[in-house]
Amino acid sequence: MIKTVIFDLDFTLMDWEDEYIFAITNVINKLNLGYSKEKIKEIDDVLATYEKEYTMYENDKFCEFLNKKCNINLPLEFVDMLLEEQTKCYRKFTESEIETLEYLSSKYELIVLSNWFTYTQKKRLENAGILKYFTKVSGGDERELKPSLKAFDIVDKKKECVMIGDSLNNDILPALKLGMQAILITKKNVKRDLRYRQIRKIEDLKEML
Ligand SMILES: [Mg+2]
Repeated sequence: MIKTVIFDLDFTLMDWEDEYIFAITNVINKLNLGYSKEKIKEIDDVLATYEKEYTMYENDKFCEFLNKKCNINLPLEFVDMLLEEQTKCYRKFTESEIETLEYLSSKYELIVLSNWFTYTQKKRLENAGILKYFTKVSGGDERELKPSLKAFDIVDKKKECVMIGDSLNNDILPALKLGMQAILITKKNVKRDLRYRQIRKIEDLKEML
């Protein structure tokens, strides 16, 4: 019997929009670094590749990584400033989405399992008004990054969990490996795979769970 529903955050609960690059731009401006638009775009692109080389987020390693890859000299405080600035990157939830989360949280324990820093993710959920539906928010600065199976150790009874995510590699496949159920959220027409179910939007969960 399912008791816990684990959600990925980005592109599952909320899309990560291209315009959120403003967070990097704002910090670069606050620090008076005077980087060009192109350089800021490069930082944004490189930022997403950290996960390929490291097993966890750590401020100093993350800062060093950006400096090395982009050939720049960001001070360590850049990381905390960015994490704060990114708390403004959230969207409003529709009434029917809220209804769905209310329904699910009345029936199951809801958890967020994200790879990005816990502080930012919690604040984004809080600002979007939906933090209250989750009993736990776990980020990649507290544990190993998905797709490591260790990331899923935030729950004990894996067989009583269902994982909802947009990434086959990070969310769905490791969850299945651990004996969890899994639901892929995608707007594309992905080939059907009998090992997991597919939905297009959060509201679709109401009929499934
Ligand atoms: Mg995601």
